[in-house]
Amino acid sequence: MNNVNFTVAEAGPFKDLISTSQDPVPGKLYLKSKLGLTGMEVSLNQLPTGGSVPFYHSHRENEELYLFVSGRGEFQVDGRILEIKEGTCIRVAPEGVRTHRNTGSEAMVFVCIQVKAESIQHWVESDAVVPDEPVMWEA
Ligand code: ZN
Repeated sequence: MNNVNFTVAEAGPFKDLISTSQDPVPGKLYLKSKLGLTGMEVSLNQLPTGGSVPFYHSHRENEELYLFVSGRGEFQVDGRILEIKEGTCIRVAPEGVRTHRNTGSEAMVFVCIQVKAESIQHWVESDAVVPDEPVMWEA
């Protein structure tokens, strides 16, 4: 098959990211190059106990969505400090100045999705196409 409509990557268990991924720093794995993503950047991340992002940053055009999968900590954006725990989802506009840290007793795992702000023209209601055929799981 030379024209498939999907790509697959295996990142392994989130809890092992700190040892299995060094791209570009220990515990971070970018998926754009692994999957050939064309409209977003996604990273899988593990921040060890006591770890912190050692800098502030903002973006020129991209908004970010941080999805916290496990762990506890603090997220700082524009000088405001927000609590982070499993299930916390934080959107940050491009100009938001952000950083975060792990203040809990276990590794923090999070997913960061980055996409150009205002870039999506069709949301699910107008973009999804549902063909009129039954779902089959066996050929
Ligand atoms: Zn960023």
